[in-house]
Formats: sequence, structure tokens, C-alpha cells
Amino acid sequence: MDTVNQAAEDLKGDTVSLSIVVPLHNEEPNLEYLFARLESVLTSLKLRYEIVCVDDGSKDNTLMYLIQHHHRNPAIKVVSLSRNFGKEIALTAGIDYASGAAVVPIDADLQDPPELIKELVGRWHEGFDVVYATRRSRQGESWLKRFTANAFYRVISSISSVPIPRNTGDFRLLDRRVVEILKRMPERTRFMKGLFAWVGFHQISIVYDRSPRYKGKTKWNYWRLWNFAVDGITSFTLVPLKIWGYVGLVLSLFAFLYAAFLMIRTLIFGIVVPGYASLMVVTLFLGGMQLLTLGIIGEYLGRVYEEVKRRPLYLVRDCYGFATNYQRNDQSKLVDGRTAK
Ligand code: UDP
Ligand code: MG
Repeated sequence: MDTVNQAAEDLKGDTVSLSIVVPLHNEEPNLEYLFARLESVLTSLKLRYEIVCVDDGSKDNTLMYLIQHHHRNPAIKVVSLSRNFGKEIALTAGIDYASGAAVVPIDADLQDPPELIKELVGRWHEGFDVVYATRRSRQGESWLKRFTANAFYRVISSISSVPIPRNTGDFRLLDRRVVEILKRMPERTRFMKGLFAWVGFHQISIVYDRSPRYKGKTKWNYWRLWNFAVDGITSFTLVPLKIWGYVGLVLSLFAFLYAAFLMIRTLIFGIVVPGYASLMVVTLFLGGMQLLTLGIIGEYLGRVYEEVKRRPLYLVRDCYGFATNYQRNDQSKLVDGRTAK
């Protein structure tokens, strides 16, 4: 179906075609401009749309302003989480609440240009299930951030079993089919970029220039980014866990050869004074390796523990603009992925 017809169809029914999902944590200064830009793009698209805003435990007046915007434009819907759960979880909540035939997660700081949604939707209408926006440039980010981000993508793409597209954030369009699959994924450690890639389907990328944050500052310091990277790696590959078996194998092979060498030498030359230094080096090296290995096992074990606790992913305090509240995974209240009236 061509775009114009599709749009006309969409305007007739009461089903939402396009859900924009925005996770927000202390984004008060960006709200006006965000909605101005989003709404101008969305109205020009002539689709029935909704903007699902997830307030991720903001400490400023983000929630209050969101509710005001909801009263001004009922297409702006608000999910307020009980505390700060982090971006990935906030995004999950938003995706759970979104009812559109396509879902587009977008950052509130306008680093992802809303104007690009037009292009994403165009590609979707061509029949793609996932249209992701790849950054051509990263403006307003330090060389260290760019360098570490590049290194991360290089490492994860070389050891992960699913190809995770480089320089691609969460800004993308997901068809309802893909959204339903994402909603069925129960894991706690939600490395969204990886999950999006893992599902497969017909994917295509479009490139854009990432602009600097509009107002406020990033919530991602290097420690958070590091943890994010560890999350990503542990949830998409077992290589760090498995590698130690091989390292141990190689080391014991060397140890065996060395022992044979020592035995032969003792047999031929008799007992020589053993070297303290070499003993120390070997002991320290092996001790270090063992601790490192234990640490890596710990990383995985900790995550297994998190998973088996099976706590809800997020807690919703209030929502505005939805027909009924529903609990995640409460299938009885879900009709076709949407909330029952
Ligand atoms: N965010 C969130 N919860 C958090 C941290 C961030 O919902 O705990 C939101 C934030 O409001 C923004 C998006 O996630 O809409 C991206 O955050 P940020 O700009 O700080 O990340 P960066 O662009 O530096 O990766
Ligand atoms: Mg940002």
C-alpha cells in the first residue's frame, strides 16, 4: 500500500499507527522543544500517533510538565515509574505500553532528530520490519567517548554471535511483529541494541548526523558506560566465560613440557638450586589469572542471580492517557498486544 493510502486508512480507524516512546529522566529543559519538534513532524505525517513518555523517576518537574502536555494533547501519554530504573528499563516500559503498529524509541534530549521519523516511516511502508538510524557523526562528544564507543562496538561485534550494528543507538523504528517479540523477552539485563539485533527480520539502516544534547547533561558517566558495556557483552556472548578453559589447557601444556624439561635436566645434571624469581612469577601469574577468571564467572553468576529472582522489571506509579493499567506479562488483560478496554 502506498504511503498516502496507508495514511488515509490510518486516520479512519481508532488504532494508533505510530507510537513514539520517550524515556525521560530529569529532562525538564528539553520538553517544550521536544514536543514542538515531535508534534510538527508527526502532524505532517498524517498518521494516528501517540507519544508514550516514560518518566524514569525524575527529580525535577518533568512529570508535572508531561501531565500538562497530556492535557493539552491527549496523544501524549505518560507512564510514571515508581523510581529511577535506568534508560533501558524505562524504554522497555514504554514499549510495553505502546499500542502503535510501529514503535519508535527516541531520546528526550533531541540527539536523535525527530525529523528523521519521516524517513523511518517511509522505509517501514516499503515493507521493512526494523529501520534503524545509524550515526554518521557524533557531535558534541569528546574524543575519549568516541574512542571508547568505537572500541566497544569493535569488541562486541567480534565476539558476539549476533551482528550488532555499529554506531546505532536505540533510535529506530520497530514493526508491531518485532515489538511483540521484544515484549516476550523476559531478561532483566536489557541490552536493547543487542535484543533489537537478535530478533532478525527485515532490517535496514539509514544514516544521520547525531547532534549534541539540546539542554542538560548526559547521565552516562564512564562508570555507567563501562557497566553498560559489560552488560552488553555478558548478555550476548559466553566467550569471556569459555576462554579460560582454553587458556588453562595451553598453560597446563606448557607446565607439562616444563616439568618434563626439569626432570630430564635433573637426571642429567643432578640437583641445581631452584630459582626463586621464576617460581614467584609463575605463582603470581597463575594467581592473577585465577582471580580474573573468578571475577568473570562472578559477572555471569550475578546476572543469573538477577534473572532467577524474577522481580518485576519496573513498577508503574501512575499512567495518564491509557485505557487501563496492566501488568507486564499479564496476558489475560492483553488483547492483540493492546490493553483491553
Ligand atoms: N534516561 C532515562 N533514565 C536514566 C538515564 C537516562 O530515562 O536513568 C533517558 C534520558 O532522559 C534521555 C535518554 O535516556 O531521554 C538518553 O540519556 P542521555 O542523553 O543521558 O544518554 P546519552 O545520549 O549520553 O547516551
Ligand atoms: Mg543524550
